[in-house]
Amino acid sequence: MNNNRRPLVLANWKMNMEPQEVGPYLDTILPEVEKDTDADVAVAGQDLYLAQMVAKVKGSQLAIAAQDAHWEDQGAFTGETSPKALSTIGVSYVMIGHFERRKFFNETDERVNLKTKAALKNGLKPIVDLDEDLSAYDGQAIDQVELSQLKKALTGISEEEMKDVTIAYEPTWAIGSGEAASAEQAEKSAALIRASLANLYNQDLANQTRILYGGSVNTSNAASFFKQADIDGILVGKAALNPQTFLDLIDIAQQA
Ligand code: PEP
Repeated sequence: MNNNRRPLVLANWKMNMEPQEVGPYLDTILPEVEKDTDADVAVAGQDLYLAQMVAKVKGSQLAIAAQDAHWEDQGAFTGETSPKALSTIGVSYVMIGHFERRKFFNETDERVNLKTKAALKNGLKPIVDLDEDLSAYDGQAIDQVELSQLKKALTGISEEEMKDVTIAYEPTWAIGSGEAASAEQAEKSAALIRASLANLYNQDLANQTRILYGGSVNTSNAASFFKQADIDGILVGKAALNPQTFLDLIDIAQQA
C-alpha cells in the first residue's frame, strides 16, 4: 500500500444475506467505521436492499455499492438496474465486470466499458473487475487477457474520470475457492496493472489509481496484501458475510 492512495475495503455480499440480517450487519460495523477513517469501507448488497442500506448508513463514512448496473439510464431492459437510479438513491460505488457476471451472465469487455462510462456519467464510482483465468495462469505474472480486459474497460475514459475508478484484480481460481493468491503473486499482477495504466494514461495517474486484490481474502492473509506496494485494498466475498470478520478486516486495513 502506498500512503498517497486511500485503502478501500469492499464487502461483496453477492446474492446472500436474508432481509432481516441487513440492518443488524450494518449496525455491527457502523460504529467501528465511524471511529477510524484511515480507510474507505463499502458494502455491496443485492439491489433490493440498497435503498434500505443507504438510509441506514446516511451521514456515516460507510458507503454502499451495487454489484452491477446497466449502461443505459432507463428504458426497455427488463430486470436490469439503472445507474441513474442507483445514483439518485445515494449508492456510491458500483462493481462492474465481476467474474461471476462474466462467467454466468455473458458479461463482455464491451459492456464493461459501456457500464463503466455510464456509472461515471451518473456520479457513481466504478470498481472495475479484472479476472485472471486459471487456464492461462503461469504462476509468474498476470495473464495478458487481464491487461486486455483493462484496456477495453477503460477505452474512452478520460484522465479526469479515472480519479473515480478503482481497479480490482481477482484471479478466477481464487474467488470463493479458499485458496488465495500469495501476496507476492498478487503484487506482481497489481504492479503490472499499474504499469499498464501508466502506458494507457501516464505515471501520475497510475500512481493515483487504487488497485484492490480479491480472491479468498480472510483475516489470516489480509495483512500480507496490504504490505504490498501496489495493492490498495481488498474485495472480500465469503469472509465478509460475517460482520465481525468484516470488522476485523477493516481493522487490518486501518493498521496497515
Ligand atoms: C469476490 O466476490 O469477488 C470474492 C473475492 O469472493 P471470495 O472472497 O469469497 O473469494
